[in-house]
Amino acid sequence: MTDLTRLSAADLAARLASGDVTSVEATQAHLDRIAAVDGAVNAFLHVDAEGALAQAADVDARRAAGETLGDLAGVPIAVKDVITTKGVPTTAGSKILEGWIPPYDATVTERLKAAGLPILGKTNMDEFAMGSSTEHSAYGPTHNPWDLDRIPGGSGGGSAAAVAAFEAPLAVGTDTGGSIRQPGAVTGTVGVKPTYGAISRYGLIAMASSLDQAGPVTRTVLDAALLHGVMAGHDPRDSTSISGEYPDVVAAARRADVDGLRIGVVTELGGEGFQPGVRARFEESVELLTKAGADVVEVSLPSVKQALAAYYLVMPSEASSNLARFDAMRYGLRVTPDGATPSAEAVMAATRDAGFGDEVKRRIILGTYALSSGYYDAYYGSAQKVRTLLAQDFAAAFAQVDVLASPTSPTTAYKLGEKLDDPLAMYLGDVATIPANLVGIPGISIPNGLADEDGLPSGFQLLAPAHADDRLYNAAAALERLLEQQWGGPILTKAPELEATR
Ligand code: GLN
Repeated sequence: MTDLTRLSAADLAARLASGDVTSVEATQAHLDRIAAVDGAVNAFLHVDAEGALAQAADVDARRAAGETLGDLAGVPIAVKDVITTKGVPTTAGSKILEGWIPPYDATVTERLKAAGLPILGKTNMDEFAMGSSTEHSAYGPTHNPWDLDRIPGGSGGGSAAAVAAFEAPLAVGTDTGGSIRQPGAVTGTVGVKPTYGAISRYGLIAMASSLDQAGPVTRTVLDAALLHGVMAGHDPRDSTSISGEYPDVVAAARRADVDGLRIGVVTELGGEGFQPGVRARFEESVELLTKAGADVVEVSLPSVKQALAAYYLVMPSEASSNLARFDAMRYGLRVTPDGATPSAEAVMAATRDAGFGDEVKRRIILGTYALSSGYYDAYYGSAQKVRTLLAQDFAAAFAQVDVLASPTSPTTAYKLGEKLDDPLAMYLGDVATIPANLVGIPGISIPNGLADEDGLPSGFQLLAPAHADDRLYNAAAALERLLEQQWGGPILTKAPELEATR
Protein backbone atom coordinates (compact mmCIF):
# COMPACT_ATOMS: atom_id res chain seq x y z
CA MET A 1 0.00 0.00 0.00
CA THR A 2 1.27 3.50 -0.78
CA ASP A 3 2.44 5.58 2.13
CA LEU A 4 -0.22 8.26 2.24
CA THR A 5 2.18 10.74 3.84
CA ARG A 6 4.39 10.77 0.74
CA LEU A 7 1.71 11.94 -1.69
CA SER A 8 1.34 15.53 -2.79
CA ALA A 9 -1.86 17.17 -1.58
CA ALA A 10 -3.21 17.15 -5.14
CA ASP A 11 -2.57 13.41 -5.51
CA LEU A 12 -4.01 12.68 -2.09
CA ALA A 13 -7.08 14.75 -2.97
CA ALA A 14 -7.54 12.70 -6.15
CA ARG A 15 -7.34 9.46 -4.16
CA LEU A 16 -9.91 10.82 -1.70
CA ALA A 17 -12.23 11.92 -4.49
CA SER A 18 -12.07 8.51 -6.16
CA GLY A 19 -13.05 6.82 -2.90
CA ASP A 20 -9.76 4.93 -2.87
CA VAL A 21 -8.89 6.19 0.61
CA THR A 22 -10.82 8.02 3.29
CA SER A 23 -9.91 11.24 5.01
CA VAL A 24 -9.85 9.38 8.32
CA GLU A 25 -7.18 7.04 6.91
CA ALA A 26 -5.15 9.92 5.47
CA THR A 27 -5.43 11.94 8.67
CA GLN A 28 -4.50 8.95 10.83
CA ALA A 29 -1.46 8.24 8.64
CA HIS A 30 -0.19 11.76 9.28
CA LEU A 31 -0.95 11.58 13.01
CA ASP A 32 1.08 8.34 13.13
CA ARG A 33 3.95 10.02 11.31
CA ILE A 34 3.82 12.94 13.77
CA ALA A 35 3.87 10.51 16.69
CA ALA A 36 6.86 8.72 15.15
CA VAL A 37 9.14 11.62 14.22
CA ASP A 38 8.03 14.82 15.92
CA GLY A 39 9.92 13.98 19.09
CA ALA A 40 13.03 14.72 17.02
CA VAL A 41 11.68 17.50 14.78
CA ASN A 42 9.50 19.48 17.27
CA ALA A 43 7.45 20.98 14.46
CA PHE A 44 4.24 20.89 16.50
CA LEU A 45 3.38 22.78 19.67
CA HIS A 46 0.00 21.11 19.88
CA VAL A 47 -1.44 18.09 18.06
CA ASP A 48 -5.23 17.90 17.90
CA ALA A 49 -5.71 14.25 16.99
CA GLU A 50 -9.30 14.11 18.19
CA GLY A 51 -10.36 17.30 16.41
CA ALA A 52 -8.62 16.32 13.16
CA LEU A 53 -10.18 12.85 13.10
CA ALA A 54 -13.63 14.29 13.81
CA GLN A 55 -13.27 16.74 10.94
CA ALA A 56 -12.02 13.91 8.70
CA ALA A 57 -14.98 11.70 9.60
CA ASP A 58 -17.31 14.58 8.82
CA VAL A 59 -15.79 15.07 5.35
CA ASP A 60 -15.99 11.32 4.69
CA ALA A 61 -19.65 11.32 5.65
CA ARG A 62 -20.41 14.32 3.43
CA ARG A 63 -18.61 12.66 0.53
CA ALA A 64 -20.47 9.41 1.09
CA ALA A 65 -23.74 11.37 1.03
CA GLY A 66 -22.85 12.65 -2.44
CA GLU A 67 -22.12 16.26 -1.45
CA THR A 68 -19.93 18.24 -3.87
CA LEU A 69 -16.72 19.05 -2.03
CA GLY A 70 -13.80 21.39 -2.65
CA ASP A 71 -10.53 20.38 -4.33
CA LEU A 72 -8.66 19.73 -1.10
CA ALA A 73 -11.51 18.28 0.95
CA GLY A 74 -10.21 15.64 3.35
CA VAL A 75 -6.52 16.58 3.00
CA PRO A 76 -5.09 17.27 6.47
CA ILE A 77 -3.17 20.46 7.23
CA ALA A 78 -0.97 22.00 9.94
CA VAL A 79 -1.47 25.61 11.04
CA LYS A 80 1.13 28.02 12.39
CA ASP A 81 0.45 28.78 16.03
CA VAL A 82 -0.01 32.50 15.34
CA ILE A 83 -3.45 31.84 13.81
CA THR A 84 -6.38 31.44 16.16
CA THR A 85 -8.21 28.13 16.31
CA LYS A 86 -11.39 28.00 18.37
CA GLY A 87 -11.03 25.66 21.34
CA VAL A 88 -7.45 24.71 20.40
CA PRO A 89 -4.47 26.31 22.21
CA THR A 90 -2.79 29.19 20.39
CA THR A 91 0.43 30.60 21.84
CA ALA A 92 2.28 32.40 19.01
CA GLY A 93 5.33 30.61 20.41
CA SER A 94 5.18 32.77 23.56
CA LYS A 95 4.95 32.03 27.27
CA ILE A 96 2.64 35.00 27.64
CA LEU A 97 -0.10 33.09 25.80
CA GLU A 98 0.57 29.72 27.41
CA GLY A 99 -2.74 28.03 28.07
CA TRP A 100 -4.79 30.52 26.06
CA ILE A 101 -7.69 28.86 24.24
CA PRO A 102 -9.12 31.23 21.62
CA PRO A 103 -12.90 31.62 21.73
CA TYR A 104 -12.99 32.19 17.96
CA ASP A 105 -11.53 31.02 14.66
CA ALA A 106 -9.38 33.18 12.40
CA THR A 107 -10.87 33.67 8.95
CA VAL A 108 -8.12 31.39 7.60
CA THR A 109 -9.16 28.67 10.06
CA GLU A 110 -12.82 29.11 9.15
CA ARG A 111 -12.00 28.80 5.47
CA LEU A 112 -9.92 25.64 6.00
CA LYS A 113 -12.74 24.08 7.98
CA ALA A 114 -15.37 25.06 5.44
CA ALA A 115 -13.24 23.51 2.68
CA GLY A 116 -12.99 20.28 4.68
CA LEU A 117 -9.29 20.29 5.60
CA PRO A 118 -8.79 18.51 8.95
CA ILE A 119 -6.42 20.53 11.18
CA LEU A 120 -3.70 18.26 12.57
CA GLY A 121 -2.35 20.79 15.02
CA LYS A 122 -0.43 23.99 15.60
CA THR A 123 3.13 24.49 14.48
CA ASN A 124 6.15 25.88 16.27
CA MET A 125 7.46 29.36 15.52
CA ASP A 126 9.68 32.14 16.77
CA GLU A 127 7.85 34.03 19.51
CA PHE A 128 5.32 36.36 17.88
CA ALA A 129 6.94 35.51 14.52
CA MET A 130 10.11 37.42 15.40
CA GLY A 131 13.08 35.52 14.08
CA SER A 132 14.58 33.56 11.22
CA SER A 133 15.42 30.26 12.88
CA THR A 134 12.55 29.21 15.21
CA GLU A 135 15.11 29.33 18.03
CA HIS A 136 13.19 32.21 19.61
CA SER A 137 10.24 29.92 20.35
CA ALA A 138 9.52 29.75 24.08
CA TYR A 139 8.95 26.01 23.56
CA GLY A 140 12.32 24.96 22.16
CA PRO A 141 13.55 25.10 18.57
CA THR A 142 12.28 23.09 15.64
CA HIS A 143 14.92 20.93 13.95
CA ASN A 144 15.51 20.85 10.20
CA PRO A 145 14.50 17.40 8.86
CA TRP A 146 17.52 17.49 6.49
CA ASP A 147 19.90 17.70 9.44
CA LEU A 148 18.49 17.80 12.95
CA ASP A 149 21.38 19.96 14.17
CA ARG A 150 20.35 22.77 11.85
CA ILE A 151 17.72 25.49 11.87
CA PRO A 152 14.51 25.01 9.85
CA GLY A 153 14.37 28.73 9.12
CA GLY A 154 11.94 31.09 10.76
CA SER A 155 9.75 32.34 12.01
CA GLY A 156 7.60 29.58 10.52
CA GLY A 157 10.13 26.76 10.93
CA GLY A 158 7.47 24.48 12.38
CA SER A 159 5.19 24.66 9.35
CA ALA A 160 8.08 24.15 6.91
CA ALA A 161 9.61 21.28 8.89
CA ALA A 162 6.21 19.55 9.28
CA VAL A 163 5.76 19.55 5.51
CA ALA A 164 9.40 18.59 4.79
CA ALA A 165 9.23 15.72 7.30
CA PHE A 166 5.98 14.39 5.74
CA GLU A 167 4.09 15.07 8.97
CA ALA A 168 1.59 17.15 6.97
CA PRO A 169 1.03 17.51 3.23
CA LEU A 170 0.10 21.17 3.66
CA ALA A 171 0.66 23.91 6.21
CA VAL A 172 -0.23 27.53 6.74
CA GLY A 173 2.49 30.07 7.47
CA THR A 174 2.68 33.82 7.93
CA ASP A 175 5.24 36.08 6.30
CA THR A 176 6.07 39.53 7.68
CA GLY A 177 9.59 39.68 6.30
CA GLY A 178 10.14 36.20 4.88
CA SER A 179 8.82 33.75 7.45
CA ILE A 180 7.15 31.56 4.84
CA ARG A 181 9.72 31.84 2.05
CA GLN A 182 12.98 31.59 4.00
CA PRO A 183 11.94 28.43 5.92
CA GLY A 184 10.79 27.07 2.55
CA ALA A 185 14.23 27.69 1.08
CA VAL A 186 16.18 25.98 3.87
CA THR A 187 13.87 22.95 4.17
CA GLY A 188 13.36 22.21 0.47
CA THR A 189 9.67 23.16 0.49
CA VAL A 190 7.49 25.62 -1.42
CA GLY A 191 6.37 28.81 0.35
CA VAL A 192 4.22 31.67 -0.87
CA LYS A 193 3.62 35.15 0.49
CA PRO A 194 0.55 36.33 -1.41
CA THR A 195 -0.19 39.97 -2.26
CA TYR A 196 -0.83 41.93 0.95
CA GLY A 197 -4.54 41.72 1.69
CA ALA A 198 -5.22 38.60 -0.39
CA ILE A 199 -5.72 36.44 2.70
CA SER A 200 -7.54 37.89 5.69
CA ARG A 201 -5.54 38.88 8.76
CA TYR A 202 -8.57 38.48 11.01
CA GLY A 203 -7.46 36.16 13.80
CA LEU A 204 -3.79 36.34 12.86
CA ILE A 205 -1.99 37.49 16.02
CA ALA A 206 -0.42 40.70 14.77
CA MET A 207 3.29 41.41 14.68
CA ALA A 208 3.45 44.24 12.11
CA SER A 209 0.02 44.86 10.63
CA SER A 210 1.18 46.57 7.44
CA LEU A 211 3.52 43.66 6.62
CA ASP A 212 1.86 40.47 7.96
CA GLN A 213 0.43 38.08 5.39
CA ALA A 214 -0.59 34.41 5.68
CA GLY A 215 0.18 31.97 2.90
CA PRO A 216 0.72 28.35 1.83
CA VAL A 217 3.57 26.01 2.81
CA THR A 218 3.63 22.88 0.62
CA ARG A 219 5.81 20.43 -1.29
CA THR A 220 4.66 21.39 -4.80
CA VAL A 221 3.67 24.58 -6.59
CA LEU A 222 0.27 23.17 -7.57
CA ASP A 223 -0.45 22.28 -3.93
CA ALA A 224 0.41 25.85 -2.94
CA ALA A 225 -1.96 27.21 -5.58
CA LEU A 226 -4.78 24.93 -4.42
CA LEU A 227 -4.30 26.02 -0.81
CA HIS A 228 -3.99 29.68 -1.82
CA GLY A 229 -7.34 29.32 -3.57
CA VAL A 230 -8.94 28.00 -0.38
CA MET A 231 -7.57 30.76 1.87
CA ALA A 232 -7.76 33.88 -0.31
CA GLY A 233 -10.84 36.05 -0.64
CA HIS A 234 -12.40 39.24 0.62
CA ASP A 235 -13.18 39.44 4.33
CA PRO A 236 -15.22 42.34 5.66
CA ARG A 237 -13.63 41.76 9.10
CA ASP A 238 -10.20 42.84 7.76
CA SER A 239 -10.23 46.41 6.49
CA THR A 240 -7.08 45.77 4.43
CA SER A 241 -8.58 42.73 2.70
CA ILE A 242 -8.66 43.06 -1.09
CA SER A 243 -12.08 43.31 -2.64
CA GLY A 244 -12.65 42.65 -6.31
CA GLU A 245 -11.14 40.12 -8.66
CA TYR A 246 -8.65 37.50 -7.47
CA PRO A 247 -6.36 35.87 -10.04
CA ASP A 248 -6.89 32.19 -10.83
CA VAL A 249 -3.70 30.82 -9.30
CA VAL A 250 -4.61 27.16 -9.83
CA ALA A 251 -5.02 27.62 -13.57
CA ALA A 252 -1.69 29.47 -13.60
CA ALA A 253 0.10 26.63 -11.77
CA ARG A 254 -1.33 24.16 -14.29
CA ARG A 255 -0.24 26.35 -17.24
CA ALA A 256 3.48 26.30 -16.27
CA ASP A 257 4.70 28.04 -19.39
CA VAL A 258 7.50 30.61 -19.40
CA ASP A 259 7.84 30.99 -23.15
CA GLY A 260 8.14 34.74 -23.75
CA LEU A 261 7.98 35.59 -20.04
CA ARG A 262 10.23 38.52 -19.11
CA ILE A 263 12.27 37.75 -15.98
CA GLY A 264 14.45 40.33 -14.21
CA VAL A 265 17.34 39.09 -12.09
CA VAL A 266 17.79 41.55 -9.21
CA THR A 267 21.35 42.94 -9.30
CA GLU A 268 21.41 43.78 -5.58
CA LEU A 269 20.39 40.27 -4.44
CA GLY A 270 23.00 37.67 -5.19
CA GLY A 271 26.48 39.09 -4.75
CA GLU A 272 28.39 39.52 -1.54
CA GLY A 273 27.06 37.55 1.41
CA PHE A 274 25.45 34.89 -0.77
CA GLN A 275 26.88 31.39 -0.35
CA PRO A 276 28.64 30.10 -3.52
CA GLY A 277 26.47 26.96 -3.70
CA VAL A 278 23.30 29.04 -3.45
CA ARG A 279 24.53 31.31 -6.24
CA ALA A 280 25.50 28.37 -8.45
CA ARG A 281 22.05 26.77 -8.15
CA PHE A 282 20.43 30.14 -8.81
CA GLU A 283 22.40 30.65 -12.01
CA GLU A 284 21.52 27.14 -13.20
CA SER A 285 17.83 27.80 -12.60
CA VAL A 286 18.04 31.03 -14.59
CA GLU A 287 19.71 29.04 -17.38
CA LEU A 288 16.88 26.48 -17.34
CA LEU A 289 14.28 29.24 -17.61
CA THR A 290 16.18 30.88 -20.45
CA LYS A 291 16.30 27.59 -22.36
CA ALA A 292 12.56 27.22 -21.86
CA GLY A 293 12.01 30.50 -23.69
CA ALA A 294 12.05 33.11 -20.91
CA ASP A 295 13.59 36.43 -21.68
CA VAL A 296 16.04 37.10 -18.85
CA VAL A 297 17.58 40.50 -18.13
CA GLU A 298 19.29 42.06 -15.13
CA VAL A 299 17.33 44.70 -13.23
CA SER A 300 18.56 47.05 -10.53
CA LEU A 301 16.47 48.01 -7.49
CA PRO A 302 18.80 50.50 -5.75
CA SER A 303 16.63 50.99 -2.64
CA VAL A 304 16.81 47.28 -1.83
CA LYS A 305 20.06 48.17 -0.07
CA GLN A 306 18.10 50.19 2.51
CA ALA A 307 15.19 47.75 2.79
CA LEU A 308 16.55 45.70 5.68
CA ALA A 309 17.25 48.81 7.78
CA ALA A 310 13.81 50.24 6.99
CA TYR A 311 12.15 46.93 7.87
CA TYR A 312 13.88 46.78 11.25
CA LEU A 313 12.35 50.17 12.09
CA VAL A 314 8.84 49.70 10.68
CA MET A 315 8.39 46.18 12.01
CA PRO A 316 9.45 46.87 15.66
CA SER A 317 7.44 50.11 15.65
CA GLU A 318 4.26 48.31 14.67
CA ALA A 319 5.08 45.37 16.94
CA SER A 320 5.62 47.62 19.97
CA SER A 321 2.14 48.96 19.50
CA ASN A 322 0.48 45.61 18.67
CA LEU A 323 2.04 43.85 21.64
CA ALA A 324 0.70 46.44 24.08
CA ARG A 325 -2.44 44.30 24.27
CA PHE A 326 -0.56 41.69 26.31
CA ASP A 327 -1.24 43.50 29.54
CA ALA A 328 -1.97 40.60 31.92
CA MET A 329 -5.61 41.62 32.05
CA ARG A 330 -6.99 40.11 28.87
CA TYR A 331 -5.15 36.96 27.84
CA GLY A 332 -2.97 34.16 29.12
CA LEU A 333 -0.28 34.70 31.72
CA ARG A 334 -0.65 36.92 34.77
CA VAL A 335 2.21 37.34 37.22
CA THR A 336 1.41 39.09 40.49
CA PRO A 337 4.49 40.45 42.21
CA ASP A 338 4.87 40.07 45.97
CA GLY A 339 3.53 42.80 48.18
CA ALA A 340 0.27 43.72 49.75
CA THR A 341 -1.70 45.16 46.81
CA PRO A 342 0.43 45.48 43.69
CA SER A 343 -0.70 48.14 41.25
CA ALA A 344 -2.03 47.25 37.80
CA GLU A 345 1.22 48.66 36.34
CA ALA A 346 3.29 46.38 38.59
CA VAL A 347 1.28 43.33 37.49
CA MET A 348 1.66 44.33 33.84
CA ALA A 349 5.41 44.86 34.19
CA ALA A 350 5.96 41.58 36.02
CA THR A 351 3.83 39.68 33.49
CA ARG A 352 5.54 41.18 30.45
CA ASP A 353 8.94 40.60 32.02
CA ALA A 354 8.21 36.92 32.66
CA GLY A 355 6.10 36.32 29.55
CA PHE A 356 8.17 37.84 26.74
CA GLY A 357 11.50 36.46 25.53
CA ASP A 358 14.63 38.49 24.79
CA GLU A 359 14.00 39.03 21.08
CA VAL A 360 10.48 40.31 21.71
CA LYS A 361 11.71 42.68 24.40
CA ARG A 362 14.50 43.90 22.11
CA ARG A 363 11.99 44.76 19.39
CA ILE A 364 9.49 46.42 21.74
CA ILE A 365 12.31 48.66 23.01
CA LEU A 366 13.52 49.42 19.47
CA GLY A 367 10.02 50.21 18.27
CA THR A 368 9.11 52.36 21.24
CA TYR A 369 12.31 54.33 20.72
CA ALA A 370 11.76 54.74 16.97
CA LEU A 371 8.24 56.05 17.59
CA SER A 372 9.14 58.40 20.46
CA SER A 373 8.44 62.04 19.70
CA GLY A 374 12.09 63.12 19.54
CA TYR A 375 13.12 60.36 17.14
CA TYR A 376 9.98 59.67 15.10
CA ASP A 377 11.07 61.71 12.05
CA ALA A 378 14.64 60.47 12.11
CA TYR A 379 13.76 56.78 12.35
CA TYR A 380 10.17 55.78 11.67
CA GLY A 381 9.60 58.67 9.26
CA SER A 382 12.78 57.91 7.30
CA ALA A 383 11.92 54.23 7.11
CA GLN A 384 8.52 55.08 5.63
CA LYS A 385 10.24 57.22 3.01
CA VAL A 386 12.50 54.30 2.06
CA ARG A 387 9.35 52.26 1.64
CA THR A 388 8.08 54.76 -0.92
CA LEU A 389 11.40 54.76 -2.78
CA LEU A 390 11.35 50.99 -2.84
CA ALA A 391 7.82 50.97 -4.24
CA GLN A 392 9.01 53.32 -7.00
CA ASP A 393 11.94 50.99 -7.78
CA PHE A 394 9.62 48.02 -8.05
CA ALA A 395 7.17 49.93 -10.23
CA ALA A 396 10.00 50.86 -12.61
CA ALA A 397 11.25 47.26 -12.67
CA PHE A 398 7.81 45.84 -13.39
CA ALA A 399 7.47 48.24 -16.29
CA GLN A 400 10.32 46.27 -17.89
CA VAL A 401 9.73 42.69 -16.74
CA ASP A 402 6.85 40.42 -15.68
CA VAL A 403 8.55 38.87 -12.65
CA LEU A 404 11.76 39.37 -10.65
CA ALA A 405 14.08 36.60 -9.48
CA SER A 406 16.71 36.15 -6.76
CA PRO A 407 17.91 33.48 -4.37
CA THR A 408 15.44 33.31 -1.44
CA SER A 409 17.94 33.03 1.38
CA PRO A 410 21.63 33.97 1.09
CA THR A 411 22.65 30.73 2.81
CA THR A 412 21.45 27.21 3.38
CA ALA A 413 20.38 26.10 6.88
CA TYR A 414 22.99 27.00 9.48
CA LYS A 415 23.63 25.18 12.74
CA LEU A 416 21.29 25.71 15.68
CA GLY A 417 22.90 28.24 17.99
CA GLU A 418 25.24 29.63 15.34
CA LYS A 419 23.60 33.07 15.05
CA LEU A 420 21.58 33.17 18.24
CA ASP A 421 23.86 35.65 19.97
CA ASP A 422 24.22 37.88 16.94
CA PRO A 423 20.82 39.35 16.02
CA LEU A 424 22.25 41.42 13.16
CA ALA A 425 23.76 38.36 11.47
CA MET A 426 20.41 36.66 11.73
CA TYR A 427 18.53 39.69 10.36
CA LEU A 428 20.76 39.61 7.25
CA GLY A 429 19.26 36.26 6.28
CA ASP A 430 16.07 38.13 5.29
CA VAL A 431 17.71 40.56 2.90
CA ALA A 432 16.06 39.03 -0.18
CA THR A 433 12.60 38.41 1.27
CA ILE A 434 11.91 41.64 3.18
CA PRO A 435 11.50 44.01 0.19
CA ALA A 436 8.29 42.26 -0.93
CA ASN A 437 6.63 42.81 2.46
CA LEU A 438 7.56 46.49 2.56
CA VAL A 439 5.76 47.09 -0.73
CA GLY A 440 2.98 44.51 -0.44
CA ILE A 441 3.83 42.45 -3.51
CA PRO A 442 3.63 38.63 -3.72
CA GLY A 443 6.61 36.27 -3.60
CA ILE A 444 7.22 32.54 -3.89
CA SER A 445 10.16 30.35 -2.95
CA ILE A 446 10.69 26.94 -4.50
CA PRO A 447 13.50 24.46 -3.81
CA ASN A 448 15.99 24.62 -6.68
CA GLY A 449 18.68 22.14 -5.72
CA LEU A 450 21.29 21.34 -3.14
CA ALA A 451 24.32 23.51 -2.47
CA ASP A 452 27.60 21.75 -3.33
CA GLU A 453 29.40 22.67 -0.12
CA ASP A 454 26.88 21.16 2.31
CA GLY A 455 24.30 19.19 0.30
CA LEU A 456 21.49 21.28 1.79
CA PRO A 457 18.53 22.81 -0.09
CA SER A 458 18.65 26.24 -1.67
CA GLY A 459 15.64 28.32 -2.68
CA PHE A 460 14.67 30.30 -5.78
CA GLN A 461 12.49 33.36 -5.23
CA LEU A 462 10.15 34.99 -7.72
CA LEU A 463 8.36 38.30 -7.11
CA ALA A 464 5.46 39.77 -9.08
CA PRO A 465 3.45 43.00 -8.99
CA ALA A 466 0.61 43.26 -6.48
CA HIS A 467 -2.48 41.29 -7.56
CA ALA A 468 -0.43 39.29 -10.11
CA ASP A 469 0.12 36.25 -7.86
CA ASP A 470 -0.82 34.05 -10.83
CA ARG A 471 2.44 35.01 -12.58
CA LEU A 472 4.40 33.50 -9.70
CA TYR A 473 2.54 30.21 -9.85
CA ASN A 474 2.90 29.94 -13.58
CA ALA A 475 6.65 30.63 -13.62
CA ALA A 476 7.43 28.62 -10.48
CA ALA A 477 5.51 25.59 -11.77
CA ALA A 478 7.47 25.76 -15.03
CA LEU A 479 10.79 25.90 -13.18
CA GLU A 480 9.70 23.12 -10.82
CA ARG A 481 9.01 20.87 -13.81
CA LEU A 482 12.40 21.63 -15.38
CA LEU A 483 14.19 21.04 -12.08
CA GLU A 484 12.41 17.72 -11.56
CA GLN A 485 13.63 16.57 -14.96
CA GLN A 486 17.14 17.56 -13.97
CA TRP A 487 17.01 16.02 -10.49
CA GLY A 488 15.00 12.93 -11.45
CA GLY A 489 12.14 13.91 -9.13
CA PRO A 490 11.30 16.36 -6.36
CA ILE A 491 14.35 17.61 -4.46
CA LEU A 492 12.78 16.59 -1.15
CA THR A 493 13.11 12.93 -2.10
CA LYS A 494 16.88 13.41 -1.64
CA ALA A 495 16.40 14.21 2.06
CA PRO A 496 17.73 11.59 4.48
CA GLU A 497 15.11 9.31 6.05
CA LEU A 498 14.17 10.38 9.56
CA GLU A 499 14.32 7.64 12.12
CA ALA A 500 11.28 7.03 14.23
CA THR A 501 11.93 8.23 17.77
CA ARG A 502 8.93 6.51 19.23
N1 GLN B 1 12.81 37.02 10.12
C1 GLN B 1 12.08 38.23 10.02
C2 GLN B 1 11.96 38.85 11.39
O1 GLN B 1 12.59 38.38 12.25
C3 GLN B 1 10.75 37.98 9.40
C4 GLN B 1 9.78 37.41 10.35
C5 GLN B 1 8.46 37.10 9.72
O2 GLN B 1 8.31 37.13 8.50
N2 GLN B 1 7.49 36.85 10.56
O3 GLN B 1 11.27 39.79 11.61
